[in-house]
Amino acid sequence: MATNWGSLLQDEQQLEELARQAVDRALAEGVLLRTSQEPTSSEVVSYAPFTLFPSLVPSALLEQAYAVQMDFNLLVDAVSQNAAFLEQTLSSTIKQDDFTARLFDIHKQVLKEGIAQTVFLGLNRSDYMFQRSTDGSPALKQIEINTISASFGGLASRTPAVHRHVLSVLSKTKEAGKILSNNPSKGLALGIAKAWELYGSTNALVLLIAQEKERNIFDQRAIENELLARNIHVIRRTFEDISEKGSLDQDRRLFVDGQEIAVVYFRDGYMPRQYSLQNWEARLLLERSCAAKCPDIATQLAGTKKVQQELSRPGMLEMLLPGQPEAVARLRATFAGLYSLDMGEEGDQAIAKALAAPSRFVLKPQREGGGNNLYGEEMVQALKQLKDSEERASYILMEKIEPEPFENCLLRPGSPAQVVQCISELGIFGVYVRQEKTLVMNKHVGHLLRTKAIEHADGGVAAGVAVLDNPYPV
Ligand code: ADP
Ligand code: MG
Repeated sequence: MATNWGSLLQDEQQLEELARQAVDRALAEGVLLRTSQEPTSSEVVSYAPFTLFPSLVPSALLEQAYAVQMDFNLLVDAVSQNAAFLEQTLSSTIKQDDFTARLFDIHKQVLKEGIAQTVFLGLNRSDYMFQRSTDGSPALKQIEINTISASFGGLASRTPAVHRHVLSVLSKTKEAGKILSNNPSKGLALGIAKAWELYGSTNALVLLIAQEKERNIFDQRAIENELLARNIHVIRRTFEDISEKGSLDQDRRLFVDGQEIAVVYFRDGYMPRQYSLQNWEARLLLERSCAAKCPDIATQLAGTKKVQQELSRPGMLEMLLPGQPEAVARLRATFAGLYSLDMGEEGDQAIAKALAAPSRFVLKPQREGGGNNLYGEEMVQALKQLKDSEERASYILMEKIEPEPFENCLLRPGSPAQVVQCISELGIFGVYVRQEKTLVMNKHVGHLLRTKAIEHADGGVAAGVAVLDNPYPV
């Protein structure tokens, strides 16, 4: 994709002045992160890294991503309710991957005891890149779907004002007007509010499971603030707090510090290092409760890379979404090549293909949070080592998406403004609420564009690689 901002990106002096203005506006708008030096304090904060200019995104792809989001919501919800599918799909993975196995264990325990929860809340973000094709028109391809702790809905609600400001400074009023308004934090809060309401106890609270050190707290506060504006109170607690102060009554209602909890919203609990033995016990307690968990354990499992890969098998979408051929077609159009590495001929062939053309593939373990995937020579070494070992079933192989790079200027605290070749990743936030078997809410609630320099294969904003951006529709 060509950029609109070509000549502007050449003028160093102007860039510096624009960057100063942009950073001040970002701070004023609340596009904030705590610092890595003081991740538990809001005394000194800085701006979340962002692009100086919005990046060009074809309107057709934006529309396509929005149009398929409700289908993804339905699909995730269907997978989470299909215990047989989850068991079958994850059977090889859980033998090799301890983290997935532990999540799966809790899932089994809850099923055995009987699910107490009657209200189900999904807040997810489906991420895409724009695959360049030979005819020049880019195609929307899903990278992954995040079903737990999908972040940056709060900050993404505040970045449009920053990019409008930059374009206004340049007297590009018409262009400034093209930047889409975006308010995922409001939409995510409306989902939580609906689940809270259906839980049906006016004195009950929302429990946000927080990390001890949370640099991204302002992103979370944006959602908390929206809830408070609706008179719904949020308490922030860690897993440790829950193991000390959480309990269930005889009806499996959840209490923390003596207060009843209607909704549990996880912003922790998606990585192995976030769980001590004590934390696993706290997670089990939460799962056994009748509070609406966002996500419940089955929905977290529905977001694993192994599930993503199995969903791309012929017939799977049709089985999970019967009688919905149009939804199936929309979903399938966004799938990149995904390959199982389970022992057997199919897995052998996938490995042979990746070894023959390493630049065309990505090797992914069952992990979230960025920085875990393997590319290029690292992938080759790993595949050679894994080839004859059962351990390979803990990974999947994925076709590497190759977007057309473009120039933008990245702004980060402590670094000079940097004009680099970039690629973007578009995320769409989805919200759904189900009561027993009835879906009562299913919508998309906004977007997130993240942009990174092409030399980084992996990693998001939290990992310090990507920066916040806005789509400039063309
Ligand atoms: P995580 O759960 O750690 O976020 P992702 O699947 O989103 O895992 O991968 C992390 C990052 O790696 C993505 O944000 C993207 O930049 C890059 N990436 C992942 N899959 C692909 C792919 N198939 N092609 C190109 N880049 C990819
Ligand atoms: Mg990701």
